[in-house]
Amino acid sequence: MTVNLYEEFNGYYDEIVSWRRFLHQNPELSFKESNTSKFIAEKLRSFGLKVREGVGGNGVIGVIEGGKPGKTIAFRADFDALPIHDEKEVSYKSKLDGVMHACGHDGHTASLLGVAKTLSKHSKHLNGKVVLLFQHAEEKPPGGAKLMIEDGALDGIDVVFGGHLATEIQIGNIATRVGPVMASVDAFKITLQGRGGHGARPHETIDTIAIGSELISHLQQIVSRRINPVEPAVVTIGSFHAGNAFNIIADSAEIEGTVRALSPEVRKKIEDEIRAILEGIKEADHINYTLDYLNGYPVLVNHKEEATLIESIVKKTMSPDSFVEKTISLGAEDFAYYLEVSPGAYFHVGARNERQETQFPHHHPQFDFDEKALLDLGNIFLQLTNHYLISK
Ligand code: MN
Repeated sequence: MTVNLYEEFNGYYDEIVSWRRFLHQNPELSFKESNTSKFIAEKLRSFGLKVREGVGGNGVIGVIEGGKPGKTIAFRADFDALPIHDEKEVSYKSKLDGVMHACGHDGHTASLLGVAKTLSKHSKHLNGKVVLLFQHAEEKPPGGAKLMIEDGALDGIDVVFGGHLATEIQIGNIATRVGPVMASVDAFKITLQGRGGHGARPHETIDTIAIGSELISHLQQIVSRRINPVEPAVVTIGSFHAGNAFNIIADSAEIEGTVRALSPEVRKKIEDEIRAILEGIKEADHINYTLDYLNGYPVLVNHKEEATLIESIVKKTMSPDSFVEKTISLGAEDFAYYLEVSPGAYFHVGARNERQETQFPHHHPQFDFDEKALLDLGNIFLQLTNHYLISK
């Protein structure tokens, strides 16, 4: 093909940045992204694409039909913001108190819109179809991915890719790896029901603070004593509330926590162990309990062929040093659901430069990134399009 997709895409840089900044100024929380959703749909229509709105909620899908038949490939960008107050002093600061694009999803969406605009002009050269998945609610389980898939987002898709900006990675670098990349996440809440009473007469009570403390140290032994030490896993207790006064034995207690794992087997084992420990405590300490156990996102597992393809594209089109083997993280991402259904891979795009403003971690109130990273993200999508849909 004679047209240079990358040059054309890079030529839209100012426009891509203006979309990103518009979204940055007008953030919307997970499951409440109706204006963002409209903005995306309007842009896609203005490029002449077929658009499906209201997919699994606020999801939007744009389709680029190629001139000839072939594979159907999908790219995903998420677009929800976070309940964080924007503390940056920049012209494009959030206009909404307490809501902020502090994870870079505004950038993902702007970049994929740039890809949409570029490909829409050259669709006749494509052998196959590109499906653009603009996904709502990544930050909040059950997550937009699952709902969009249930609403048919992956029907007929041969392969799916997603990218995420990363301020822990230097601009110009792209990171991914084969196999597990991010963890499963579960949340649980335990309510202990004992028997309150006088602090001086413990034998007449069932002390939920003493029993709750014992329970927590037991839960800490799941990872340290019951899971194979070469398997990464976390059990974190994030809250423990009980009692009101120094001389009253607490009648009830509430304990909340999260479980992270990198394999479905370990994930299941931890849940089973939590249930078993609770049954044991009930028996041993004569206490009643309830357990709410919520399964969040699954482990994100990159498929080998597709993750390796990203590696070779980066080494060939950027530089051999631009590829970084992604370190595994026990953070979670609902892109995991797409990879349970379809082959594909998820990659991270370096977005920090030497300026301190671009070095805050994600979800920080001063989070920002080097906008040039939007070109790297979009160029990977275009290279993938070239690989699958353009005959050499
Ligand atoms: Mn994110």
